Order: sequence, then structure tokens, then C-alpha cells
Amino acid sequence: MNLQRVLDSVYESVQPLIGSGNVAEYIPRLAAVNPDQFGMTVSTVDGERYSVGDSSVEFSIQSISKVFSLALAIAGDDEEIWARVGREPSGAAFNSLAQLEYKRGIPRNPFMNAGALVVVDHLISLEEQHVPSVLDFLRTESGNESISIDALTAASELSHGDRNAATAHFLRSYGNLRNEVSAVLDSYVNQCSIAISCEDLATAGLFLARDGQGNHGREWLTEAQAKRVNAVMLTSGFYDAAGEFAYRVGLPGKSGVGGGILAIVPDVCSICVWGPGLDASGNSLIGMAALGELTDRTGWSIF
Ligand code: GLU
Repeated sequence: MNLQRVLDSVYESVQPLIGSGNVAEYIPRLAAVNPDQFGMTVSTVDGERYSVGDSSVEFSIQSISKVFSLALAIAGDDEEIWARVGREPSGAAFNSLAQLEYKRGIPRNPFMNAGALVVVDHLISLEEQHVPSVLDFLRTESGNESISIDALTAASELSHGDRNAATAHFLRSYGNLRNEVSAVLDSYVNQCSIAISCEDLATAGLFLARDGQGNHGREWLTEAQAKRVNAVMLTSGFYDAAGEFAYRVGLPGKSGVGGGILAIVPDVCSICVWGPGLDASGNSLIGMAALGELTDRTGWSIF
């Protein structure tokens, strides 16, 4: 299969969708992004990389960062996290608080904001064990040391972060947040505000396609742990549209309100698409379409 040709034809077929959807408006810095952009990169487990469009333009990683924080949090010890966060799809929006009360402060899964805040809290508690940060991880695995946090996005998000602050306080009232709310929010917002390109993100995600093994031979996760992160991505990676993504694309993946999507084809490749316009569920409209076309043309769906 000539992958570059496949990507070119996917690019062709989604052209009419460039600019469609709505950019995230609740974070002012994201609302200002030019919607007429689209990029896509496939990084294969044997080190090849294929791209189309705006694949080297940096965008805001947002919730895709939750995949990396989860991986870093469970690398040492699975059990602790799973005692504090569930692993069931929520069928709700990313910032929903609805199920937290009757679940007594245990978020439905680690990819909703509530669950991600608990994961970040756990990582702060692990600081003495020198667990790398999400930023360090991305720099190491992509080989791009210049990846950084966009300070304007972080500030924009913090000043419009009432819902996340409410969620953090609610979690803490149930004893499921051990560090100060402000420290957890800062760390969460920083990881969400990392600016990264499709090329670097696809490459950094390869450890999930390679049973936990990074690009320089480091075993970040065991095979079983990598399998579990992929499983949670499949069931909970797309807000209330995980079923739609399974139906149209059929891969473990995670989206973010910056318009990026990371998708994993186990043992084959890691894929990143980006287009800032979102659909009604908050997933990149063109990204969903491009990945659907890609798995139709390659047979890469796991189903
Ligand atoms: N930083 C965003 C928030 O907490 C992440 C949202 C997302 O990408 O799902 O609202």
C-alpha cells in the first residue's frame, strides 16, 4: 500500500469540509484560531512518517494530553488510579458534573475533566518519584525539544475555568483530590495548553501502537497497560460520541477541543489529524471524516 497516495486521496476527499464546524468558543484563545486549516500525519511503528496539509502547524493539544497523563500515572501503579477513577463511557459532555454526586466523587473515566483532574492530582503526588511531565514525555518521544506550553492559552483557560474549578472543589469535598485545588488546576491547564503539531503528536503516540515501547527503546508501559489505555480511548475518548467514532473509524482515539484527534492502529501506526472546526459533540468535524475515510481505504479499523 502506498500510504502517501492514500493520504493524498483522503485529503482530496475532505477538502469540501475545510473550515466546517465551530471553533471552541469557551476558551477565547481557541476561538481566535483560523478554522480554514487541516493537517494529518501517520507515523508507522517502523519509523516512517507520511503527512498532508498543515501537519507541521502547532495547535492546542487540549484533552489529548489526558492520554499521556493517564499513561504516566499508571506506569508505576495501575491500582491506585483505578480505585479513584472509573473506566466506563460517560455518555456526557467532557465537563459534566452530573454523575459525580451519585458516584460519590468517583469520575466515570479518566478522560472527562473530572477524571483527568484526579489523574493530575495523582501525578502531583508522585512528583518526588520524578515521573516525567506530559511536556517532557512529548518532547522526548517526538524528539522535538522546542514543544512548549502556550502561555496565552493557559491564561485564557484559567480565566474562564469556573467549571473546572467547581469540579475540582467537588472532587476534593469527597476526598478524591489530595493536593490544593489551585495546584491541580494549574498543572491541568498547563498540560492542556501545550502547542504541538500533527507530526510531533503522531510520533509521540507511537508507544501505544507498540505495546508501550517508546521511540528510543524505553518501555513506558507494559503490554497489558498499553492495551488498557487503548481500551479506555476506544470507550471514552470522544465525549458523548465514542460510539459514533467506533462506528465511523473503529480505532482507539482521543480528541481535544483544539480540533486535534490522536488515533492508534495497534502494531501498525499512530495517526494525528487536526482541523479546528468542531461538531456538536466537540470533536473535529473534518478530523472525524478524514479518519473515517482513512480506515475505509486501509482496512485499519479494529473491527
Ligand atoms: N482544557 C479544556 C477544558 O478543561 C479541555 C477540554 C477538551 O479538550 O475536552 O475545558
